[in-house]
Amino acid sequence: MRPLVFAGNWKMNVGPVEAREYLRAFFAAGEIALERSVWFFPPAVALETVAQGIAGHRNVLAGSQDIYWEPKGAFTGAISGPLAKQAGARLTLIGHSERRHVFGETDEQTGKKVTAAFAADLQPVLCVGETLEQREAGNTMAVVTRQLEAALGKRDGKARVTVAYEPVWAIGTGRNATPQDAAEVHRAIREWLKTRAVTAAPFVILYGGSVNLKNAAELLAQHELDGVLVGGASLDARSWAQLVRTTVA
Ligand code: PEP
Repeated sequence: MRPLVFAGNWKMNVGPVEAREYLRAFFAAGEIALERSVWFFPPAVALETVAQGIAGHRNVLAGSQDIYWEPKGAFTGAISGPLAKQAGARLTLIGHSERRHVFGETDEQTGKKVTAAFAADLQPVLCVGETLEQREAGNTMAVVTRQLEAALGKRDGKARVTVAYEPVWAIGTGRNATPQDAAEVHRAIREWLKTRAVTAAPFVILYGGSVNLKNAAELLAQHELDGVLVGGASLDARSWAQLVRTTVA
């Protein structure tokens, strides 16, 4: 069985009370094959509950959905890498398209957040992806490369980074890239990571954008995909428990 990552981004859903019930239902489905890793990205208020609820499950980790780049101070509403770490996070999403497009986060800010994640000993999961307009103009790789360059290009030394390719037009819309389109972009991202040598191998590149129980097997049959980052379809514990057990060719 090839190693695969199933990452669930709960966005602004599932508080601590619901998270407890969620994990109970999720683990009631049984243990997960060791080759499969399950990463949960709950809202910050539920991070500690999730970290405690997954303790003892070696291949299940919790992460924060975002961090601010300063370690502490007068930044009302923000959480820092060290605070997320203290709550039990091992990973953090950086540059999710909703951070970029709803909250106006810039490439430069994603770069600062990646640096802050390393400083806090959190593994960054860097999200990149083009809008529909950019795709139709043939600029997918130019946009993705610009985002990679801004977030990772100035790094010296290698560290473990996961990249999530999430075309903006596919997130929460019910539309997703064809498996072949996704694989093509993943190949290009992998080449960039190799040639720039800014991250440590093995490179983990996830696909995200309306992944669900119906399309996961077909997407994951592409060996360029090392896993999936899933929003909507990770919110129901029972169907998520099924999704992480998807049979993959
Ligand atoms: C996401 O939030 O990263 C995502 C891919 O959402 P959805 O699966 O709902 O498209």
